[in-house]
Amino acid sequence: MKLKNGAAYIDSLRQLHPRIYYKGKPIMDVTRHPATAPHVRAAAMTYALAAKPQYKELATATSHLTGRTISRFTHVHQSVEDLIKKIKLLRVLGQKTGTCFQRCVGFDGINAVYSVAYEVDRKYGTDYLERFKTWLIGMQDENKMVVGAMTDPKGDRSKGPVEQSDPDQYVRVVERRPDGVVIRGAKLHMTGAVNSHEILVMPTTALDEHARDYAIVCAIPIDAPGITLIFGRQAGDDRRDQLERIDAGKPRFGAVGGEAVIAFEDVFVPNERIFLNGETDLTGALVYRFAAHHRANYGACKTGLMDVLTGAVSYLAQIQGAAKGSHIRDKVTEMIHLSETLYSSSIACSAEGSPTPSGAYLVDTMLANVCKHNVTRFHFEVARLAVDIAGGFIATLPSEHDLDSAEVGHIVRKYFSGIAGIPVRDRIKIGRLIEAMTGGTAMVESMHGAGSPQAQRIMIFREGRLDEKIKLAKALAGISHRGKKKKGGAMA
Ligand code: SF4
Ligand code: FE
Repeated sequence: MKLKNGAAYIDSLRQLHPRIYYKGKPIMDVTRHPATAPHVRAAAMTYALAAKPQYKELATATSHLTGRTISRFTHVHQSVEDLIKKIKLLRVLGQKTGTCFQRCVGFDGINAVYSVAYEVDRKYGTDYLERFKTWLIGMQDENKMVVGAMTDPKGDRSKGPVEQSDPDQYVRVVERRPDGVVIRGAKLHMTGAVNSHEILVMPTTALDEHARDYAIVCAIPIDAPGITLIFGRQAGDDRRDQLERIDAGKPRFGAVGGEAVIAFEDVFVPNERIFLNGETDLTGALVYRFAAHHRANYGACKTGLMDVLTGAVSYLAQIQGAAKGSHIRDKVTEMIHLSETLYSSSIACSAEGSPTPSGAYLVDTMLANVCKHNVTRFHFEVARLAVDIAGGFIATLPSEHDLDSAEVGHIVRKYFSGIAGIPVRDRIKIGRLIEAMTGGTAMVESMHGAGSPQAQRIMIFREGRLDEKIKLAKALAGISHRGKKKKGGAMA
């Protein structure tokens, strides 16, 4: 692995020249700009852990392609054990950053593309997997961060890609050349995009044969000509802009992953970086496998966040003298129960994983959907309990400027104190951390990241094997026949 730690990763980003805009102005250095630097530091933790002996087992893997030690974030799962190690790693990273560390999107994209390229090759005699392996070995050896780019803008949601009045609402091939293709369109909500080295473009939905130009999977360097990124706003980002160390809540790391629009304005992709081109029939499988891997993650990374939140409110209760209250203990117990329930789902869908024809392992898709769907509820309940325990304090807290003011600071210090011996500043810091972890964008991410709740409900119903469940019920009820109709139409 070329990039051996967080500092090497940060330095590598400084060698790139992506075109990034934020609030109408270019960002020249994502590692130093206050809007993006916290996200860079969160992603850097994925590199830092690989360098620490106690986390090496989780954070690294042995490449099945080269036999070399690589970051787990560039690995193709070779076993159930790999799937479970990933889940354990994500929880640790969630605990250490308290936010999204972004690198799983490319990780899941790599795993989905690998298994689908294998199947497309078998069906059509193409050589996508060999191309993909060559590219992937480069990512593994260089230890690059890849942004998995799936979500298209989608324009008019009642219409598919080819029926849109603006055909660019889904990323598509606009020109085919002997040496490659030219693509146009955009991907939205791209977590970690501004601090990735490479983009792995995938279709956003299952496509039919009329949408061949939209069936494109390819890899593109983040600073390739024609690519523009627009970094999104987040709740509280002004606090980071002004380098307010306390009011930002989590000054070292971002509130959430740091999402961007990636626009492809006629970007050339050479053949060796194209891993699917026009074969539409496995696009549904690709999207679904990516989504299943990503949904499995949420009971791990978000559980790490919930661990931090549970610790924050417990500490706040302690320094306010409320920790022994039975209702506080009860609420903290419930927070822990909900967090561990989510983690159980992540472990379960990994433990029930199985190999695809390519040999790459896939999580149990039903359980992965259930896992993510529960996150859309339980994380909110955990946040509600945290806000309940923390009290109105976190909504009405004066800013750090008032705390430090020569004129009014003494008032803030006097009336925001808790138990003796604890600095007011610490109480405010923990309050701001709770605020940052329960409000705004962080919760939206739990709801809509890896697919909105309805996406999981559709798959849960589809994979629910209702026929088998009906058979179980009929067997126990003593209904042994298959519903032959009597004369006159009544069931026999
Ligand atoms: Fe990884 Fe979780 Fe962020 Fe998705 S939301 S990229 S799984 S940390
Ligand atoms: Fe996400």
